[in-house]
Amino acid sequence: MSERRYWEADLETLPRKELEALQLESLKEIIRFSYDESVYYRRAFDEAGVSPDSLQSLSDLARFPFVDKKTERDTQGVGSLLGEMCAVPEEEVVFVSASSGSTGVPTLSPFTKTDFDEWQDVESRLFYMAGMRNTDRYVHALNFTLFVGGPDVIGAQNLGALCIWAGTVPSERLLFILKEFQPTTIWTTPSYAWYLGETAKKSGINPATDLAINKIIVAGEAGGSIEATRQAIEELWDADLYDFFGISDIFGACAGMCEAKDGLHLAEDHILVETVDPETGEVLPDGAKGELVLTTLRKHARPMIRFRTGDVGYVNRETCSCGRTHARIYLSGRKDDMFIVSGVNIFPSDVEFVIRGLEGITGEYLIRVTEENYTSRYTVEIEKAAGSAEADEQLAKRVSVALKSRIGVKPAAVTVLQDGALPRATHKAKRLIDERSLPVPS
Ligand SMILES: [Zn+2]
Repeated sequence: MSERRYWEADLETLPRKELEALQLESLKEIIRFSYDESVYYRRAFDEAGVSPDSLQSLSDLARFPFVDKKTERDTQGVGSLLGEMCAVPEEEVVFVSASSGSTGVPTLSPFTKTDFDEWQDVESRLFYMAGMRNTDRYVHALNFTLFVGGPDVIGAQNLGALCIWAGTVPSERLLFILKEFQPTTIWTTPSYAWYLGETAKKSGINPATDLAINKIIVAGEAGGSIEATRQAIEELWDADLYDFFGISDIFGACAGMCEAKDGLHLAEDHILVETVDPETGEVLPDGAKGELVLTTLRKHARPMIRFRTGDVGYVNRETCSCGRTHARIYLSGRKDDMFIVSGVNIFPSDVEFVIRGLEGITGEYLIRVTEENYTSRYTVEIEKAAGSAEADEQLAKRVSVALKSRIGVKPAAVTVLQDGALPRATHKAKRLIDERSLPVPS
């Protein structure tokens, strides 16, 4: 008997027209529900002069107001713990996660029982798409404390994989798990996948031959979608790498790569995506790069209508070579990490693409954005690989030329450091330091 190809074939390969009809039906329902049940949405729609009747087609969604992190913070705790955006009484809420709070007050993300179960079904779908089967042993190496990615392990369990709830343990402990249990699949951040592989090597374990890992799922940073980074990690582990995209305000993972590794399929029966101009908020056509705006179609505890993610990328709604019809998203990075030099928008991921593709360097880097005479400049620090005989000057020039040809703007300087000089990232890497004395946007 041949193995089934999709987790939910009918849904995942639904012809575009039918998928959009389904989305419109769900959208109408959730807009009406939000207006009727959420104090915040009723007020916001009234103020914007729209009502549930204003929505007759998917494109009518553009008439509705945006929400963002600030909306969440401003309405949280007002009237009740979960606040004015929440659309169900607290008795119906069974789970709440909280964002890390790195950009301010931690924001809560509530789920009803149905929200939670449907979320885990989406996780099963994404895991299956990344090749996970019930024969796999899976290590969930994400944080369990308040973090929305923690419960995603249940999706792997529901799929039938043997699950090991590792959490974020010290790397020696995690390597012990990888050696003793010989799991085949792990989920972590790209920085950590790299760090863990290097750490294994230093302790005499070759991740490619001594461990059984053949699939690595990554999320939380752009690396998994940068081809050179992906290939470097795949080579280090002799494994396939699949990028996932999650957002604490919605699901642990909302989108993931299939075997084509060409963009990330969004669970479009649950989430609608728009691309907007980050400055004006105007809706952009598919293929144009802009800020991704997501609308949840089925979550009831706290619907998200036009949530500005702060993530920049573009959307492709063409059917994928894998047969799935759900849109693929391509991510460049966080809006906040983007900097502009000589009129060019640059993401750390652009720099990473170049650095990870060059020989004779370790792949670690640090970008500094500085200002001189009211002009922004960027410099890049890199590490020369141990054993390389290349002169620093020559190496710096080679990197500079490669950056210029990829990005279009030459760095003001490339500083060559020795192997190990830059701090090694464990989970989320901080690779951009903005030294300009510009006012911080609120
Ligand atoms: Zn695909």
